[in-house]
Amino acid sequence: VFVDRDGVINELVPDPVSGLPESPLSVPDVVLIGGAAGALAQLLAAGFALIGVSNQPAAAKGTVTQHQLVEVHARVIQLLSAACVTFDAFGLCLHHPQGVVPELTGTCTCRKPAPGMLLAAAATLGIDLASSWMVGDTDDDIAAGRAAGCRTILVEHRGTAHKRLGDASPTATVPDLAVAARLILMNGTST
Ligand SMILES: [Mg+2]
Ligand SMILES: [Zn+2]
Repeated sequence: VFVDRDGVINELVPDPVSGLPESPLSVPDVVLIGGAAGALAQLLAAGFALIGVSNQPAAAKGTVTQHQLVEVHARVIQLLSAACVTFDAFGLCLHHPQGVVPELTGTCTCRKPAPGMLLAAAATLGIDLASSWMVGDTDDDIAAGRAAGCRTILVEHRGTAHKRLGDASPTATVPDLAVAARLILMNGTST
């Protein structure tokens, strides 16, 4: 199971300028969404590999340092670990097409909707993409999952409704990761 991070595993935080819910950018802002860790633990217990796939462009845009992004991500991993959830792999795309930090700016193959992070993890871990799932809260997550040949589940986090236009064609649509996990456990192929 490929899983997006922000808005699926951890809560979003209002951007100080736009007011729109965005990725947490400081460690104290990292809060797991209720039921998310338990849902991931159930998938692990059923034999699924868990692979995180997250776009994190804030450092490329110059909003925060790369070090801050790493610290925030480490906090997510720490909170999950406290709930006995360990990911088999976690890909972060730090790039942005219109960034201000040269080494992080430009077109890449890992930024969703591109499927690069899914394809790379599948190749490394020997995962069958057709029997895999991609769970995320934006149209770009669903596009990445479809491009990789996975079944897809769109999580309707209310803070990211503006990133879902209604034409992503996911396999299923659910309110949160807990319901997504139940659906996968009813339909999925575990290894
Ligand atoms: Mg998200
Ligand atoms: Zn990238």
